[in-house]
Amino acid sequence: MTDELPNGSGFVRFLYNKFSDLLAEAMNPTDAQSYLGKIHSTHHQGNCKDACYECLKVFRNMNYHSLLDWRLGLSMMRILNDSTYKCGADGIFNQHVELNGWLEFATSLRKGFAESFGMRTVDVVQGLPIIKWHARDKNVILIVHPFWDMKNMREANWIAEIKNELGEYTRSRGGKLSIVDTFNLHRRPGWCYEKLVRNG
Ligand SMILES: [Zn+2]
Repeated sequence: MTDELPNGSGFVRFLYNKFSDLLAEAMNPTDAQSYLGKIHSTHHQGNCKDACYECLKVFRNMNYHSLLDWRLGLSMMRILNDSTYKCGADGIFNQHVELNGWLEFATSLRKGFAESFGMRTVDVVQGLPIIKWHARDKNVILIVHPFWDMKNMREANWIAEIKNELGEYTRSRGGKLSIVDTFNLHRRPGWCYEKLVRNG
């Protein structure tokens, strides 16, 4: 990280010196009326699915608007701040502001996706929304958080159990288990469909 100006504006030094304080303030804002306080507010939580002009969007970052997501930003900072943070992979979504409502969000994305592409069998496994499709519902689409490492399951937690259970299901039927994350499902469902269905 570096200051953009040759003479340095001091932001990087400030960040370096105050990093733990800034992280703590981002996680638990002390002033409800501050920029961070407003991001955490129930009003903002209810009205902002990814990014808006009250949180991350400004005119100058217009090229990135469709990629911005305040919840993922907070999750990323919490990963830096807390080595025990599981980001919902333990099935717990009500302890952190950025995970509140994630299951409902995933469920509504699943609904839109299944309806758009004519997949009729939707199901829930241990609370997680999934889709079953193709002959005898042999294939399963698992909808996950973008920060979960689905390739290297390092502990026997909630999402690992679900993946194992569905892996057994698809193997027993000669089907396949596909994984799609909510970052992509929210932003480019057509791309997800191509990837999951056409290309395997
Ligand atoms: Zn917002």
